[in-house]
Amino acid sequence: MAKVSLSSPVSVIPGIGPAAADRLARLDVTTVYDLINFLPFRYNDWSRVGSVYDAREGDEISFPCVVMTAPNTNIRSRARPTTFYVGDGHMRILLTFFNSPYITRKFAVGDECFVHGKVTLFGTKLQMVNPYIEKKSKVSPDALIRPVYHMTEGLKASFLPKWIKSAIDLCKDEMVCVIPDEIMQREGFVSPAEAYYNVHFPRSFEESEKARRQIAYEELILLGIGMKLAGQGQAEGEVAQRVIPKGSGALSDDIKTRWKGIIGNLGFKLTEDQVRAVKEIQMDLQRSVPMNRLVQGDVGSGKTAVAVLTMAMTALMGKQSVLLAPTSVLAKQHYDTATKLLEGSGINVVLLLGKTKQSSKNEIKAQLAAGEASVIIGTHALLNDDIKFKDLALVIADEQHRFGVKQREKLLIKPDDGSGVNSVHNLVMTATPIPRTLALVLYGDMATSTIRQKPAGRQKITTWFVPSKESSDITDVIRTKLEAGEQAYIVCAKIDDETSDPNVVTQYSDIPDSGITSVMQMKENLDKMGLTRDYSAEVLYGSMNEQQKLGVMERFLSGEIKILISTTVIEVGVDNPNANVMVIMDADRFGLSTLHQLRGRIGRGDKKAFCILVSETRSELALTRMKMMCESDDGFELASKDLELRGPGDFFGTRQHGIPQLRAANLYTDIGIAKEACDAVNRVFDLGGEEADRLKDAISRMYQLRFAGKMEAL
Ligand code: ADP
Ligand code: MG
Repeated sequence: MAKVSLSSPVSVIPGIGPAAADRLARLDVTTVYDLINFLPFRYNDWSRVGSVYDAREGDEISFPCVVMTAPNTNIRSRARPTTFYVGDGHMRILLTFFNSPYITRKFAVGDECFVHGKVTLFGTKLQMVNPYIEKKSKVSPDALIRPVYHMTEGLKASFLPKWIKSAIDLCKDEMVCVIPDEIMQREGFVSPAEAYYNVHFPRSFEESEKARRQIAYEELILLGIGMKLAGQGQAEGEVAQRVIPKGSGALSDDIKTRWKGIIGNLGFKLTEDQVRAVKEIQMDLQRSVPMNRLVQGDVGSGKTAVAVLTMAMTALMGKQSVLLAPTSVLAKQHYDTATKLLEGSGINVVLLLGKTKQSSKNEIKAQLAAGEASVIIGTHALLNDDIKFKDLALVIADEQHRFGVKQREKLLIKPDDGSGVNSVHNLVMTATPIPRTLALVLYGDMATSTIRQKPAGRQKITTWFVPSKESSDITDVIRTKLEAGEQAYIVCAKIDDETSDPNVVTQYSDIPDSGITSVMQMKENLDKMGLTRDYSAEVLYGSMNEQQKLGVMERFLSGEIKILISTTVIEVGVDNPNANVMVIMDADRFGLSTLHQLRGRIGRGDKKAFCILVSETRSELALTRMKMMCESDDGFELASKDLELRGPGDFFGTRQHGIPQLRAANLYTDIGIAKEACDAVNRVFDLGGEEADRLKDAISRMYQLRFAGKMEAL
């Protein structure tokens, strides 16, 4: 046999043929190391012993027992099962084995055994069909906590532990430790091979937990440090304009007065978190190292004001900035907000959309080139045009999670004016950061400002789940709100060009596409119910023409339209404080992050808001998502759960997000561990010497095996 190494294809493991290798590849397991890293997603506990006497049909129990009758196989018919009784001291139960002739040879009356299986009824008698049975003396405690793996069709779950065991045995010397001694000792961690062994074959739940924690440290170190060592980190030597001069005395009185005027004009008092975010950004803008900052704040926390103030500051310093929104509807709204907030400040705000008329486009372009417009708002279409800026210093991407990997690359505009400046300051804003963004934070390539507080006076949104589309609850709530003079959203999972949105979950849905209520159908339903006689309703979806879309939005914001029936085009940013009820049809079709973003459209004023999730799904996973939504209103927590619930296997989703699946760590909840671990590694590097060399080498080697080739350029 050829030498097996961690980078060998899985097919070198005894028992893995081409068919199995194919199926493993579907789980993103192609190398021996991938196989070792394919962690169980949960465990079945066989260690808790039950009794046959208490068991009901359908129960799964484990118990020690004695063989009571001789196992007999019917020699005339191989189809007949082997049957015999075992007793646990109180009661006996019939065990039935199909296709297991070896059972007869293996067990005899009086043998002490250990059995695990599901209790079924055979006539009136209790029985178990093909249970696990082993001589009691041979049952080691580590066989009783059974790993459960995400499986793909055609792969037999019972083979996996065997394969993983041989993989670890064959390669254990190659698995080197990447965790600094300091942490190894403090946490009482074991060798990497042992940790993987313990997570796959734990003797107790504590042991598996501890092993998983160790592997999380390992993963986060590889991700946080390995990439840098591999030279895949952020490009060095980028220079941006110093927007704000250093030192407090550097600002002229005129600028200080204008700045105070803008703050005073906002119409509300900034929250402490907003003030801190603005200050942190100002510090960044005093440097020529390009800012790379994430403003993370939940929906409705007031990120737009932070963006507008940052742009205003840049404008006061005589430089230009761009705010990019993922949709034209949102761009238009930001334009309105910015115009309002900056009224009387003398700052020229312009809007540029893909569909802006050519004549006005040319006019705006001329203004940008001449530096007459300093606050520029638009969609990413803005970047496709040959637009020249006089003095672009800052680019802000709002709702950053909505930009695709490819689109994001275009956000890096590099002005070339011979001054040595080759980059711009970057600010991204989102409530539900994608893993890639968190990875950047982890590498230390991105700083964060967090807005935790909501503006004063907000009430909690009440969310509930309605399991039937026929329920009168749906229209009752809408009607009540409309009668109170408020407005309503109805969101549908209509399948059109927007299905490329990675947040629309179609692959696991138990409801066929034909069962999905479309925007048009919804409108018809409301017509039939007579609701639209009293209250005007209009539809909105992505493929409508831009002018129509903006028109509908305008009429909805002005209160002319009472009910807006739309797709997820309204997911991001739309801000109408008078709309306080949202019905989401076929809610199972959306990921948690999307549902949370949608829900963020309501509850923006001081009125009570209701969100109704309607779905006839029976899928356990979908129902779990619905439950999470009803229980949590924390975007960060939901984004984290979203990732977890999608689970391994949904590589489309995570690939889309630009980093490979993490097996043990959770980027959302373990960011603290990540920082601590990477700091410890850097301390060792700073000290230098043999230990630093060893660790560097170990991290580089394991990074290659674990992540290289799976990582999109960041
Ligand atoms: P998001 O963080 O989701 O982008 P927005 O910026 O759209 O939130 O803000 C939501 C609403 O809250 C807007 O109507 C905005 O005018 C308002 N708002 C923002 N900051 C404050 C504040 N400090 N006090 C009161 N209202 C605020
Ligand atoms: Mg926003």
